[in-house]
Amino acid sequence: MEKSKVEKLIIIGSGPAGLTAAIYGARGNLNPLVIAGREAGGQLMLTTDVDDFPGFPEGIQGPDLMAKMRQQAEKFNTRFVNEDVRSVDFSKHPFVIQTESSQLLAESLIIATGASAKWLGLESEKRLIGKGVSACAVCDGLFFRDKNVIVVGGGDAAMREAQHLSKVCRKVTIVHRRGELRAQAALQQLVHSKSNVEFMFNKKVAEILGTEKVTGVKLEDTQTGQVKELPIDGVFVAIGHKPNTDFLKNQLELDNLGYIVPRDTVKTSVEGIFVAGDVSDQRYRQAVTAAGMGTAATLEAERYLETLEHSS
Ligand code: NAP
Repeated sequence: MEKSKVEKLIIIGSGPAGLTAAIYGARGNLNPLVIAGREAGGQLMLTTDVDDFPGFPEGIQGPDLMAKMRQQAEKFNTRFVNEDVRSVDFSKHPFVIQTESSQLLAESLIIATGASAKWLGLESEKRLIGKGVSACAVCDGLFFRDKNVIVVGGGDAAMREAQHLSKVCRKVTIVHRRGELRAQAALQQLVHSKSNVEFMFNKKVAEILGTEKVTGVKLEDTQTGQVKELPIDGVFVAIGHKPNTDFLKNQLELDNLGYIVPRDTVKTSVEGIFVAGDVSDQRYRQAVTAAGMGTAATLEAERYLETLEHSS
């Protein structure tokens, strides 16, 4: 097993937060190393048109935006390791990061591993992601102007997605597997007040229909087992997100859902380790906010490294 030199700054994750952190780190002479992960680029790799990232008035495809960010980071000599992190040891300094093939050492670290939308797990869902199946109404809602869509889920996120979609879609149907919503009362009321939002309770999506794009869904009644088809243009899955923090258990303070608990915006429970993007943010979850946090995290890492230098 190869043992490497001590890096000044390692960034784990290569979505907008990680790559923006890298651009700032490289320009700040921190010579960053990005552990990009096997599924590099984050959630934008699953999005088609991005119309709300500033600077692209004509819009840009999610994967193209991520390719440009990576090019920009590479231009300033950021190095990339296209592997996943297997484990970490933050009880030592330099911090120890074990990837699939090597052990890396870092004086400072930015964790930007994001959160992944939970999916229903259907083959038809996988095939139609970006073709009518989405997990982000803010990102993709406008493509369904005056169309009929369903939102799957009964929690706060599903209510928020439905509320957002109700402003652009003709009709939004919330499909929930039980007879009772999990969402907080205020959000339920908000959605109930919209004339174009309906509920279908005790229904689960058995299959999403369509070849090139979504044309409907097969809904199974969870009480009777009866299956019915519903013609529909879009399916928004809002059944929760899972932060990508499995490798951090017992190393950093995580909340009960697994998100990194931020301190003073981008610091963490371990000095010298910073956080950016959705891995600590359930609230905004936008590429732009993640990028902003990436900048803040690098500026804090830079300050931390300066104090290390002065104390040695
Ligand atoms: P959540 O509260 O865990 O709700 C997930 C919903 O999806 C539940 O209704 C669940 O059904 C359903 N579900 C889960 N797996 C499913 C499956 N395989 N098939 C069909 N349905 C499935 O998740 P969330 O709504 O994303 O919220 C996560 C956290 O973020 C919560 O703490 C929430 O309060 C917070 N949040 C807050 C806001 C806000 O505006 N305040 C907005 C978004 C999120 P069951 O009810 O049957 O379990």
